[in-house]
Amino acid sequence: MTGIQSTDIKNKLHAFCVQCKNAGLKMTPQRLAIYKYLLETVEHPSADTVFRNVRHTLPNISLDTVNRTLLTLNRIGAAFVVEGTGDVKRFDANLEDHQHFKCLNCKRIIDFHHAPFDNVEIPTCIKDQFTILRKTVYFEGLCKDCQSIST
Ligand SMILES: [Zn+2]
Ligand SMILES: [Zn+2]
Repeated sequence: MTGIQSTDIKNKLHAFCVQCKNAGLKMTPQRLAIYKYLLETVEHPSADTVFRNVRHTLPNISLDTVNRTLLTLNRIGAAFVVEGTGDVKRFDANLEDHQHFKCLNCKRIIDFHHAPFDNVEIPTCIKDQFTILRKTVYFEGLCKDCQSIST
């Protein structure tokens, strides 16, 4: 289900602990479980999906806690909100260079990596007016499964 090796996960969990400490946050079982789930999935889950999954290990967790934790992870830079409009927020803890394709029909968000997209140039007219904190290339359309339904 995932190509990430367990030592890699261990390293990332360690980095996460440091990140929390630097932000003055205590490491709670909730934070750890939510972050770990985000690391292990390639689904770019919504808060709702995260909630349904971490509930297996933390039966008393509330959707509200999950929501707040995800926004905290986003704030400290351990995860980010995937671009795209309209729908509920989707989260990603994969901080390595990659881009997203989103299927507008089934809402799947698929990772891809095209190296030239890592260094997209910011036009001067943007640079002059705004401070860019994150840039990404994002595609939307129909995935293979959904194309075959609609044709
Ligand atoms: Zn689809
Ligand atoms: Zn991603």
